[in-house]
Amino acid sequence: MNARKKKVLITAGPTREWLDPVRFISNPSSGRMGYAVAEAALQAGYAVDLVSGPVRLSAPEGVQLHSVETALEMYDVVEELFEGCDCFISVAAVSDWRPAEVHSQKVKKGDERQVLEMVANPDILRTMAARKSAEQVVVGFCAETENLEDNARTKLVSKDLDWIAGNLVGQGSEGGFESMENQLLLLGKDGQREILGPGLKSRLAVELISRVLS
Ligand code: C5P
Repeated sequence: MNARKKKVLITAGPTREWLDPVRFISNPSSGRMGYAVAEAALQAGYAVDLVSGPVRLSAPEGVQLHSVETALEMYDVVEELFEGCDCFISVAAVSDWRPAEVHSQKVKKGDERQVLEMVANPDILRTMAARKSAEQVVVGFCAETENLEDNARTKLVSKDLDWIAGNLVGQGSEGGFESMENQLLLLGKDGQREILGPGLKSRLAVELISRVLS
């Protein structure tokens, strides 16, 4: 009998947190890193589920694409697929908050000042990592504007991950959100530490897959 093809579940892209029918809060994630990881996992022989926020990319042929918009939608799809996956790689730039109220009609211009109340979104990665079996591998990403290594290490431990890939984003840093290139600091729970790149996200994705799925 053939062995079951191993499954990798990947999140990618930004989420959109709607305030009313014409406005949302989001971030500049292009989805390129997550899509590159999906392609690399596919090429390495895995079955790939890609849960993606709105991006201008097409999913690699052969990848099962699940398109979502909000963090709550992403949470629901990931929750459904997590138990059946061998590895979860959370690349998405999930919004930490969403507007407390989603208005059904466009909010009218009014006062000079407008206060927007936000509530926390669930941390998808942390929730799944807390449920993982001994056989499952969970990999997080983190985008930091400062103290990359300290922040990445803290998240590796506090979210109980097997691996974390950190990249510096924001002014003055190479790569990150919208770029084709990136540089990753890969930390493993058993003390592994490696810098991947700088290089094309496609190359870094192949290297990442070979490290975390070896
Ligand atoms: O704590 P921070 O948001 O920096 O962690 C980033 C990691 O957590 C990424 O892997 C991201 O996909 C994931 N994340 C998540 N759900 C959230 C926020 C972040 O899965 N609500």
